[in-house]
Amino acid sequence: MRYISTRGTAPVLNFEEAMLSGLARDGGLYVPETIPQLSAEEIAGMEGQSYEEIAYRVMRPFVGDVFTDAEFRGIIDRAYAGFGHAARAPLKQLDQGHFLLELFHGPTLAFKDFAMQLIGQMFQTALGRKGERVTIVGATSGDTGSAAIEAFRGLENVDVFILFPHGRISEVQRRQMTTPQESNVHALAMDGDFDACQARLKDMFNDFDFRDGVRLAGVNSINWGRVLAQVVYYFSSAVALGAPHRKISFTVPTGNFGDIFAGYIAKRMGLPVDRLVVATNQNDILHRCLSGQGYHKGKTIPSISPSMDIQISSNFERALFDAYDREAPAIVQLMDELKEGGFDVSQGAMQVLQQHYASGRASEEETADTIAATLKSASELLCPHSAIGVKVAEKQRVAGTPMVTLATAHPAKFPAAVEEASGVHPPLPARMADLYEREERVTRVPNDLAALKEHIKGQLTA
Ligand SMILES: *Cc1c(COP(=O)(O)O)cnc(C)c1O
Repeated sequence: MRYISTRGTAPVLNFEEAMLSGLARDGGLYVPETIPQLSAEEIAGMEGQSYEEIAYRVMRPFVGDVFTDAEFRGIIDRAYAGFGHAARAPLKQLDQGHFLLELFHGPTLAFKDFAMQLIGQMFQTALGRKGERVTIVGATSGDTGSAAIEAFRGLENVDVFILFPHGRISEVQRRQMTTPQESNVHALAMDGDFDACQARLKDMFNDFDFRDGVRLAGVNSINWGRVLAQVVYYFSSAVALGAPHRKISFTVPTGNFGDIFAGYIAKRMGLPVDRLVVATNQNDILHRCLSGQGYHKGKTIPSISPSMDIQISSNFERALFDAYDREAPAIVQLMDELKEGGFDVSQGAMQVLQQHYASGRASEEETADTIAATLKSASELLCPHSAIGVKVAEKQRVAGTPMVTLATAHPAKFPAAVEEASGVHPPLPARMADLYEREERVTRVPNDLAALKEHIKGQLTA
């Protein structure tokens, strides 16, 4: 399996190289050259299988000969062994025909653990046998960073640096990043918002001297390995609800477009997906774009669903690449226009996007109301991100087709917003009940490329 860049000029790579590099050297994102197909029979055969077995069958064709079958099975088993639920991604019924896919039973209580735990094990296996070392730098609006630190802490071949917007993430998110004491973990509180963190990260990747000098590797949601890991739970949940014999719809609380893009890949592989609904908060640039209004940046307004507070949705570039019939020069031009504030989508590309994606938004008030209402109607305490999904899904549901809403985080990760909306304080699961007592370790850094590079070089172990 070969991977090509959405901007057309970076080298073609295999799975391991694409995974270890993250962002392509031409600034683009890696995508598989072709999408492997699973037959209806193969999909039907997943019924009753463990999450790990389904993960193996869905991801194996993308990995090629980078790992042996036995290595890859070991990687998957170790990745999900620390989850707090035997089913890994259990379904819960909310209402007739409406299901919640609980993706928050991993070590940091958000869906990002599914991808990050897998990536951690894949990095360890790939680097360990070559005796090589890499520096992982990530930017986070909260959940990616904690998932990355949790996945890489204490791993021998990796230093991990995470940039987060100072003062703009929840205390639980921050503590999950600042309390691990392993010396290969570095939490950096940067002045600025998430888009600024993401911009400095991109700058570092585009500085080839630095990139090669510290052997930079990226694990942000643009990393193909992460998208791939997320394809699995679309299969496991759809099969549990009757696929491939019936169609299933999904609603996905969306920010960087990684999770929903994984659903699109599942559909392209042959899973009968009816609607894929992008749910946004008040930072609704994706909803506006998918409604035909072009992609034009505004100002990020902080919300009670901070992991979706973005203006630049990195993985959307992958969706655009397919919508523009994989014409890299068209993508290069759109991304140039984006630097100046935004772009309009051509009519043809818009048709393709709307054929695959529906969208909706929920206001802050609707989000809070949905948390309260769902607690009452289904005894389910939702995190604000998941509540946005549920609200938008209710508007987009069609009778006769099951709707699965992805619950992207545990309510205890956002206790203040959840308590304010519902009157109920969501307790942390027992395995992390002492989080508020653990000692924090964090460095405050300016929104400045040169200073960041200096700091990272100075901290490297080897
Ligand atoms: C990251 C995140 C999202 C957004 O997912 P994307 O893949 O970036 O679209 C939604 N909810 C939560 C809780 C998250 O952590």
